[in-house]
Amino acid sequence: MFWWRTLHNGLPLRQNLVRRGFRIEYSCPFGCDESESESHLFKDCPFAKLVWFELKLMIRTESISQNSIIDWIDFWIRDQDTNNAHIRNSLIPEAITICWSIYTQRNQVLFQDGKRDHNDVLHRVSHVMKNIQHAFELPSLDPFFALDRPHHRPAPSLPRHVANSSSITIFCCWRKDALSRTKSVILYSYHNSRIYPLIMLVVNMKNNMLTSVVQCLRRWMLMPHDPHFKAVICIPNRNLISQLHQRTLAPLTYSIIIDDIVAINSPYGNFTFTFLPQLEAAAP
Ligand SMILES: [Zn+2]
Repeated sequence: MFWWRTLHNGLPLRQNLVRRGFRIEYSCPFGCDESESESHLFKDCPFAKLVWFELKLMIRTESISQNSIIDWIDFWIRDQDTNNAHIRNSLIPEAITICWSIYTQRNQVLFQDGKRDHNDVLHRVSHVMKNIQHAFELPSLDPFFALDRPHHRPAPSLPRHVANSSSITIFCCWRKDALSRTKSVILYSYHNSRIYPLIMLVVNMKNNMLTSVVQCLRRWMLMPHDPHFKAVICIPNRNLISQLHQRTLAPLTYSIIIDDIVAINSPYGNFTFTFLPQLEAAAP
């Protein structure tokens, strides 16, 4: 959602609000005299410069002339000293995470008495990046997945109804992280042996796992999709699949979310849910 809004220049930054007629202070919340625009907040502000520079990426934002944050990140990634497409692609989530973290800090400063501390921004980035990394290693790390792992080795190719070329295949997985006391759910697609994360939900360890999974599904289904968009969502839990197909089976704790998922899906039936054990590619 954050990135969607940024793409459309729609973040409720002070300059954008002033442009829309709000009578508010429009100066940068990190204490400089500039007006708060996207390029200022994420790139030109001394605070943002410090964040980018302190990261191991050692970026000097002065060298970049692009105005739009999207062009700027695009330029920066193409400018990296590597021809390795895999490394370049891994930079995209990192750059997005950095922007998101700066934006989160900005909101804390404005609304929650937060500090202007760039270390907070850096910690948040490393925490999220670590979680994303873990999400990819999930099946080999968490015994939870073993529950649905079949006794025989799963076939390396997808079932025929899943591999249907007219729809995109989305995979859902989740893990517990005892160290950070969190659980995370991630939806991703898989193409040319590369993983493309779509959405991640991180919740407290105390939260119910399947509730978090359906919440994450609902969030992603609510994002703007083309009416003709078709996705097969593979979930490694048979119970949840039954509940999605027959909502009366869902426990009370999250039956309301299942109801909502059914309602979101009813006009065009864009989303199909199917059981698929963890893919061999991701297993140890
Ligand atoms: Zn500033």
